[in-house]
Amino acid sequence: MDASRLGGMIIEGGEVYTPERIGGNCLAVLGEKIAYVGESELVNASGMKQMARSGLLDIEEIDATGCYVVPGFVDAHVHIAGGGGEGGFHTRTPEIRFTALTLAGITTVVGVLGVDGVTRSVAGLLAKARALEQEGITTYIYTGAYEIPTRTITGNVRSDLVLIDKVIGVGEIAISDHRSAQPETFDLARLAAEARVGGLLGGKPGIVHLHLGRGARGLKPLFEVLDQTDLPISQFVPTHINRTRHLFEQAKEFRRRGGVIDLTAGVGPDLGEEGAVAPAAAFAELLTEFGSLDGVTISSDGNGSLPTFDEHGELVDIGVGPVDLTLQELYRAMTEMHLPLEKLLPVITSNPAKYLKLYPRKGCLAPGSDGDVVVLTKDLKVRDVVAKGRLVVRNGKPLVRGTFE
Ligand code: ZN
Repeated sequence: MDASRLGGMIIEGGEVYTPERIGGNCLAVLGEKIAYVGESELVNASGMKQMARSGLLDIEEIDATGCYVVPGFVDAHVHIAGGGGEGGFHTRTPEIRFTALTLAGITTVVGVLGVDGVTRSVAGLLAKARALEQEGITTYIYTGAYEIPTRTITGNVRSDLVLIDKVIGVGEIAISDHRSAQPETFDLARLAAEARVGGLLGGKPGIVHLHLGRGARGLKPLFEVLDQTDLPISQFVPTHINRTRHLFEQAKEFRRRGGVIDLTAGVGPDLGEEGAVAPAAAFAELLTEFGSLDGVTISSDGNGSLPTFDEHGELVDIGVGPVDLTLQELYRAMTEMHLPLEKLLPVITSNPAKYLKLYPRKGCLAPGSDGDVVVLTKDLKVRDVVAKGRLVVRNGKPLVRGTFE
């Protein structure tokens, strides 16, 4: 892009999902924002192309014929600064690369710390989030690690939320897991109270993002907090809820009460998680019960470690989680469960953007929204990616790379 002229692009010919399917097949981006979504005729009549040809604007024209044009993805659970360490120091995963995210169509990411709040810090996570932002995507973080009392930058969750722009909540806090701090209801309630007031004062959602393990109690500690305190259900977003059938049934109850639930991609019975509910099947069940996937999201848990423990709790294997699994889960839901793309897209676009209070700036294609756009082939492969108005992936190849890539 030429720095002396306002840049942009016209993406034409594809099926546009905002994430709702609209009739038009044209989208225009100007600077960092979406300028227009609709029929091509209006863009042609606007003189935008003439302004580009005359050299007034620096406009790229992209033919998306035979493709889907969708909002950039919002992944609200990625271990961007690395994760893991359950098998000792050599099992700490490295920091994520910028292109790992962009090649997966992710243009907004929320970074989380995870199990290790000792050798990794929230400050380190913040630094990594700032680096990715400078490299070209939009980033936020959760303060904290698995444990309660949890790790912070300023000394407490409330101040982190008030004072640090990128902190939008606390997480991932582990419950019902052998790696959690085994918190009492009171501990969880007090942490959530900190997040609530910090969020109010800082103008943030103040989300309490809960990691659910395979523990028998499942969401019970969360239900106890809701029953015994004045905290609203909108404060909490539990994740990994498709890890066991029992947990998934509890999550449906949480959804019935109005809460947002987050599935984890790559978790399923065919991937070594015994008794887990594959996201494709989970989407189908939730659609049958609720009629839509409102309040349902999926995140990748990407770049964290993928430990496998045996029946004695011993670590037997470890890998690094990819970030492109969420899209693969949508494809499986389309092909195996015959669910329409339009019903599925909100789980990685508008739904997470809504509970993170980033909507409609993020998670949708509308005039004035950030210029975050993904062009997908019909078999849901990422072809082109625009992040904050800049073309970062073209024909599946990165045009922009991270500083050290
Ligand atoms: Zn987790």
